[in-house]
Amino acid sequence: MEIFKTKATLKAFLKPLKESGKKIALVPTMGALHNGHISLIKLAQQNADIIICSIFVNPTQFTDPKDLEKYPRPIEHDLAMLESAGCSGVLMPNVEEMYPLDEDENWHINLGKAEFLLEGEFRKGHYQGVTQIVKKLFDAVEPDVAMFGQKDFQQVLMIKNMVKYFDLPIQIITCPIIREDDGLAMSSRNIHLSAADRQHSLVLNESLHFVVKHFDEYSLEELEAKAKIFYKDIEGVELDYFTIANGNTLEPAASKDEENLVALVAAKVGSTRLIDNMIIK
Ligand code: AMP
Repeated sequence: MEIFKTKATLKAFLKPLKESGKKIALVPTMGALHNGHISLIKLAQQNADIIICSIFVNPTQFTDPKDLEKYPRPIEHDLAMLESAGCSGVLMPNVEEMYPLDEDENWHINLGKAEFLLEGEFRKGHYQGVTQIVKKLFDAVEPDVAMFGQKDFQQVLMIKNMVKYFDLPIQIITCPIIREDDGLAMSSRNIHLSAADRQHSLVLNESLHFVVKHFDEYSLEELEAKAKIFYKDIEGVELDYFTIANGNTLEPAASKDEENLVALVAAKVGSTRLIDNMIIK
């Protein structure tokens, strides 16, 4: 597995491979890898010949400087995981490599109305930062396909909108959510959960599961109300939103008959903010 600190060395590595017709996949990550990330690598291997994983904790997508500061960075562990997953190369640039100019901070594109809903409401400017860095990574790798996790449901939508905006010839593949045995969605932030928080965090999966399981029995209003009751009286758990939304627009579902429906949740568990979702149909 090759390790690249600069875009130029990665480009030089990829050039002959592209010329010989190899299909390239990009798996963007912020590191602190877990089996969710590895599932993206594995799915990439089914869709391409050469798999490039990027590890970069992107400052422009953090709204809370403390969150950025405490983001875990276990680099040796990450490289060992990628090596054993059969990843072809890792791009590990520093901040200057990705943001050489101040002008970069002026990035702003139209991502549609959904940018401002849900996560966009709680993390202002988050998806501008996400699309800014993903565009830079796309420019560096020029992949045929790129893998993103359904775990970050809104992010996939924003990336697809960015691809449409620039008319990029890149296929976006969405990977299912990988969970711990007890149902908690894997996340790099889970290590910040105390033992009590870890137990309380199961409420996200449980409330989503309830809505999917009982979808036919109740109205949309009843489902949301019942899901929210799960969060009442759990010490240290604060619900940001629980919504049943249209999967294309992220607007609250107007009718149970809509085609793509997804339940999405965000909650603070202790000092850790967690998100999760389940596709209803
Ligand atoms: P991150 O390092 O958190 O930015 O995540 C990198 C990629 O891994 C994103 O596309 C995430 O959606 C995806 N991902 C994170 N957690 C999971 C999970 N539990 N299952 C599947 N994909 C995930």
